[in-house]
Amino acid sequence: MTMPMNDVVPTESEELVPSRYAVKVGDIDVLVVSDGVLPLPTQTMSTNADPAARAAWFKDMFLGPENFDWALNVLLVRSGEQVILVDAGLGGQFPGFPRAGQFPKRLAAAGIALESITDIVITHMHMDHIGGLLVEDVKNRLRADVKIHVSAAEVAFWAAPDFSQTDMPQPVPDVLRSTAQAFMQAYGERIRTFERRHEVAPGVVASLTGGHTPGHCVVYVNSAGERLTFAGDALFPVAFDHPDWHNGFEHDPEEAVRVRVELLNEAAASGELFVATHLPFPSVGRVALEGEGFRWVAGFWNY
Ligand SMILES: [Zn+2]
Repeated sequence: MTMPMNDVVPTESEELVPSRYAVKVGDIDVLVVSDGVLPLPTQTMSTNADPAARAAWFKDMFLGPENFDWALNVLLVRSGEQVILVDAGLGGQFPGFPRAGQFPKRLAAAGIALESITDIVITHMHMDHIGGLLVEDVKNRLRADVKIHVSAAEVAFWAAPDFSQTDMPQPVPDVLRSTAQAFMQAYGERIRTFERRHEVAPGVVASLTGGHTPGHCVVYVNSAGERLTFAGDALFPVAFDHPDWHNGFEHDPEEAVRVRVELLNEAAASGELFVATHLPFPSVGRVALEGEGFRWVAGFWNY
């Protein structure tokens, strides 16, 4: 018997893979949405690593050797009446990254309208976290009164960014600078800055860490004794085995290592759920201590 193809082949708007993952933290609903992937040089993940150690790590992970696909996770949190988007992915406007910029379509497929978002938290103003907000259709559909929460230190940094300690492939520095400028131009009036901690909604707290960028923040979701941490770019897939490996995008690599180790130790001690932008989708799991480093323990899905 043959099946009519229309029944099995999804149309462009209904993808074969929904690329969203739901998790409940106490009474708060959290959805991890994949914005797609972004190819990056393996060197960028480990600028201070011995090339042989780097090559061995990527080989052991069945990745590389020169480039690998970096995950892009975006978070959507529903707390009470508020719908909070945490970061917005890369957007589809950058040539060379055709597999990124998927979050608007995946949010729509989940039945979530951009118009329903009341708050947006930006962990930091790198293009792969704000680019999605610069897509015309996204700009036009977000509410005029949407509140965008960014740390004051982050906004200040991008007014005149110092990239002297970074090690980024060209032409990334210029594109980062112009994207941050475009973001400020488009959303400056809707940005609410905070100093160290800001409760965006009941149980949803943005907390400044610095390190990756001077104003980088993480987002804690707390409810009924449970906690999930969205770590943004405080760590990358290499961080469990090599927390001391520097990432080329880090504004202050030494401080970034301190922030990373503290967050990983905190998560290992509490047993909380842990999500980060660039861990493989769905990036919902826990952190365990192992030897000198850490170990990632994937979560069990219970929907
Ligand atoms: Zn990033």
